[in-house]
Amino acid sequence: MLRISSLAVLVLLAVGWAQIASAAPPLAPAPWAASSMPMTVHQVGPHSYYVEGLLEEASQANEGFIANAGFVITTDGVVVFDTLGSPALGDQVIAEIRKRTEQPIRRVILSHYHADHFYGIPAFRHVGAEIWADTHTHAYLNSAAAAERLTQREKIIKPWLGPDFKLPLPDRWLDQPEDFVMGGVHFSLRRLGPAHSPEDLTMLVEPDGVLYSGDIVYAGRVPFVGADSDTRHWLVAIDDLLAIPARVMVPGHGLASRHPQADARMTREYLELLRQQMGAAVQNFVTFDEAYRKVDWRRFRAEPTFGVANRRNAYNVYLQMEQETLAQ
Ligand SMILES: [Zn+2]
Ligand SMILES: [Zn+2]
Repeated sequence: MLRISSLAVLVLLAVGWAQIASAAPPLAPAPWAASSMPMTVHQVGPHSYYVEGLLEEASQANEGFIANAGFVITTDGVVVFDTLGSPALGDQVIAEIRKRTEQPIRRVILSHYHADHFYGIPAFRHVGAEIWADTHTHAYLNSAAAAERLTQREKIIKPWLGPDFKLPLPDRWLDQPEDFVMGGVHFSLRRLGPAHSPEDLTMLVEPDGVLYSGDIVYAGRVPFVGADSDTRHWLVAIDDLLAIPARVMVPGHGLASRHPQADARMTREYLELLRQQMGAAVQNFVTFDEAYRKVDWRRFRAEPTFGVANRRNAYNVYLQMEQETLAQ
């Protein structure tokens, strides 16, 4: 009797040990500092959420948390849209997802390769997600602008990037529109670039009518118009975006909109003003400084980030208008 009990205990121990041995090994500790930024999560559809970034420029105080990131929970995994501006912020998004589901984070879709949206990739790769981005991202990754931006970010948010941070690549390059289904939820990816960037990508969660639009439309702040934007085609892309049937639009910056047509107006009018005023200056051989001084900026002056972004935006558009004039 005693012998049988001992044997049973041994078998049980062996089974228990095998279960422990077959469990996934614990993840290595992250090489970046933990973020202290609180995050507000909004639910905008049965499956669809986003975290709301601050309407500011990146700084040490805000850890570069200046953009939104979305996540969509299905019964067969989670899809994430954009990763925020550091792996530490990415971890915060993952923590918010974990408060709501134990489903694995399977896939990350990048709206475009600007620092505030893709520097968080390593956090998601760390938990096994596959990263997708538009193929035009290649051009940015090899540009001087990308290297300069990284140097600038390392000066202000180095602890949250970690000591060995390198510009993270996607796992899969998209060169055409793509739809996929996960857990019965239909996702539709559309390439609307070149607009705000050469590689703008949007994601519609069909059953929720939720459209993650990246930086094609900004809500509640003036857009960032970088040297890599194409403002002429950006205006076309806004029309293409508004043609996608959506109930809610989650922009890359600012609150979600239930009135996409109306809320796209500021981005559109701002781009139109820049193109019209800088275009006229170029046509009339007026210097940038003089042209800038003469523009009536009242319509946009009160918007957050006007002070830090407007002059640089206008200058980039002035250069673009010179290029367009030369190409005529
Ligand atoms: Zn951007
Ligand atoms: Zn952005």
